[in-house]
Amino acid sequence: MKGEQPAGADQRCIELVELLTAYLDDALDAQRRRRVDDHLRGCAGCRVALAQWRTLAGLAGRLTAADVADLDSYLRERLLATLTVARRR
Ligand SMILES: [Zn+2]
Repeated sequence: MKGEQPAGADQRCIELVELLTAYLDDALDAQRRRRVDDHLRGCAGCRVALAQWRTLAGLAGRLTAADVADLDSYLRERLLATLTVARRR
């Protein structure tokens, strides 16, 4: 079957999520931004996550636990990982 993800793809997704908030803030340097763009082109899951994240980012500060519970598990895991990273700064 074609389109199979290579081993390690999920690690790249995790790394991408760590860059997502900066990506949306337009705070990445050109090199990292291109890495995000390249990954998004090849990863439908992350494209969906980014689209939903953009919506969530528009709700800045109003995101509740109930909102997060409504998200699908794929996005929620990545969202929580991102929030953890963002709060650590
Ligand atoms: Zn991905």
